[in-house]
Amino acid sequence: MDLSNFTISQIHNGLKNKDFSATQLVGAYFENIEKKDKDIFAYLSLTKEMAMFQAKEVDSLIANKQELPLLAGVPFAVKDNIMVKDIKCTAGSKILENYFASFDAGVIEKLKANKSVILGKTNLDEFGMGSSTENSAFGNTKNPRDLSRVPGGSSGGSVASVIANECVFALGSDTGGSIRLPCSFCGAVGLKPTYGSVSRYGLIAFASSLEQIGVITKTVEDAEIVFNAIKGRDANDSTSVDLSSIKQTKHKSEKLDIKKTRIGIPKEYFVKGIDPAVEKSVKNAIKKYQELGAKIVEISLPNTEYALAVYYIISMAEASSNLARYDGIRYGKSLENDEQNANNDLLSAYMETRGKNFGKEVRRRIMIGTFVLSAGYYDAYYLKAQKVRNKIIQDFNSAFEKVDVILAPVSPFMAFKIGEKIGDPLSMYLSDIFTVSVNLAGLPALSLPCKEKDSLPTGFQLIGPAFEEDKILEIGKLI
Ligand code: GLN
Repeated sequence: MDLSNFTISQIHNGLKNKDFSATQLVGAYFENIEKKDKDIFAYLSLTKEMAMFQAKEVDSLIANKQELPLLAGVPFAVKDNIMVKDIKCTAGSKILENYFASFDAGVIEKLKANKSVILGKTNLDEFGMGSSTENSAFGNTKNPRDLSRVPGGSSGGSVASVIANECVFALGSDTGGSIRLPCSFCGAVGLKPTYGSVSRYGLIAFASSLEQIGVITKTVEDAEIVFNAIKGRDANDSTSVDLSSIKQTKHKSEKLDIKKTRIGIPKEYFVKGIDPAVEKSVKNAIKKYQELGAKIVEISLPNTEYALAVYYIISMAEASSNLARYDGIRYGKSLENDEQNANNDLLSAYMETRGKNFGKEVRRRIMIGTFVLSAGYYDAYYLKAQKVRNKIIQDFNSAFEKVDVILAPVSPFMAFKIGEKIGDPLSMYLSDIFTVSVNLAGLPALSLPCKEKDSLPTGFQLIGPAFEEDKILEIGKLI
């Protein structure tokens, strides 16, 4: 029996029926990682000892005939910007090369309580800044579907590990598309939750007003199971929300009827420049929903053309502030003894630490972010971007008066070749043109794979109103 290609409920039943033990299962995943990860490089570090310990705990629960949580014994991977106590957490950066987390992130606490098993930490673009995982300080992850191509980013390691059967599910973070984009490039399912649905406690901050931790799986059912386990209020993150209070006031409890569901297709997302094969695959998905009886409605999100500029101004501004703490004294790698700074003063120590240990893209963003916040430019860039962000939110609000969910492509193109865009940041930023609006508006979005025969995978996203993850998951399950 191949022990490394299961869904969560198959594992649950297999463990309960004693078809295999948790230790065998976890062992099989590590074997698979050993075989495949030399080529793919999804993992930055493995946590074998801890995983085997966790697996044994699950096996003794089973031996003692105790109740088994659905996620017990399920092996998963964690993006290396999410803290796991006592495990290295680098955020893909040299500046945190030797940092060991001193606490568990809120989501990790919850998954540990569910007895899921952590296999290791996955590669990412440094601090989540990138769309290809080529900005990692430790080397690039390859797309398991075609090793000459990027897996997308920044959660490229997490998505590659799921698709290569090197774990059952993975956690990622999505600030401007970092879960959904790699899911579309590799053919996985990815859920970016509503801002506030999931705790960000223990997520290394890049742009705090935009990002959420989310889930990467092979099936929508699995995404739903993991989301249900990690969602909800965490006293350590004041922006996280008690979802039960929202449901009482807002959520409609009746079951989804696809024949009564209106799916909005934003005309601004099907424009010149989109790869015809992507457009065809996404239109096929629309057709399938239409055949199921959904009402397809053309809608307009008129401020879409400004989303990318707004996103890059706001995210870089927030990044410049969030990353100020890594100065080699308060946080981050200090200069080695033999690297003593020439002037022997504090400012040059800061400058040398940051200059040497941040990668090129991170330095670019800190500089642009500092610039757009500086006196004289603040009004023209940052403040203006915030005003346009409000317009983008209003666009979605009016759209959701006419439709229940929105369906759109995830990226205008498919996985590109390694090295193809790395020298051209603007064309790299264009990968995110269809994903960033969702983060600016704080909405939930589910990225689902679709493809033409024999082509690379691509994806479409179902975008829902705030806190209506249930609805996009239900609709996602239908095809
Ligand atoms: N690709 C986007 C960026 O580089 C999104 C990153 C993310 O979601 N973490 O900013």
